[in-house]
Amino acid sequence: SPGAAGEGDAVIELSDVTFGYTAAPVIEDVDLAVEAGEYVAVVGPNGSGKSTLMKLMLGLLRPDEGEARLFGEPSHAFDDGERVGYVSQHASAAKEMPITVREVVKMGRFPHVGFGRLSSDDWAVVDEALATVGMSAFADRRITRLSGGQRQRAFIARSLAGEADLLVLDEPTVGVDAESVEAFYDLLESLNDDGITVLLIEHDLGAVVDHADRVVCLNREVYFDGPTDEFVGSDALARAFGAAAGVLGGDR
Ligand code: ADP
Repeated sequence: SPGAAGEGDAVIELSDVTFGYTAAPVIEDVDLAVEAGEYVAVVGPNGSGKSTLMKLMLGLLRPDEGEARLFGEPSHAFDDGERVGYVSQHASAAKEMPITVREVVKMGRFPHVGFGRLSSDDWAVVDEALATVGMSAFADRRITRLSGGQRQRAFIARSLAGEADLLVLDEPTVGVDAESVEAFYDLLESLNDDGITVLLIEHDLGAVVDHADRVVCLNREVYFDGPTDEFVGSDALARAFGAAAGVLGGDR
């Protein structure tokens, strides 16, 4: 598409960002750029500022100091929302309306059709999105009657139908049954191979180490930002979290 980011363009950019809900900052002096096509994981224990950082990136919160940009625009003014697919923890989706998977995915198409009727081409995009996430067989099932992993796939399909080129996922496999988790991360990896930028907020270090190309280790400040294999051998976790480091990634 005409506005698509090319190689080397920053999709997300935080410059010297400081933010606090009260006088005490929970994000301090964070510099972070995510380039088109990257797969970046943000790790940190509870309360380290991961969700706050994500809200700053998406423009849901505004920095007290510094600047947040999304696709080159100030995040709070960014108005091309369909380019960003957001997937929350599935527990928070439990009250989703009783509509089918195909209807949910169809909604992703609305920004492209001006809320008019979908053309056959639009429906083809919807069906392709369902196929990409392996949910074609569940298209007519109510979204509330899916497993956690299936529901997350449906939400990713909705983003794909909207032609999102950035996926932001906040601990997406919390509550997803163990045998579906690995397949879910395989899907993210194949979407990233297809050119979609992935920003994953994650407490499961195993998932991060196995799949992300780059790790940002956060505890108010950035303690590590680099290739995943360098993170594995570094002492960043211990420095950032001390005793809490052992708690992180306890699933594996
Ligand atoms: P994480 O996602 O890593 O668990 P958060 O970004 O949710 O961390 O929280 C970072 C800090 O900000 C925590 O100390 C938390 O208590 C505080 N915090 C988060 N949201 C709010 C809020 N809406 N109002 C006040 N404090 C908040």
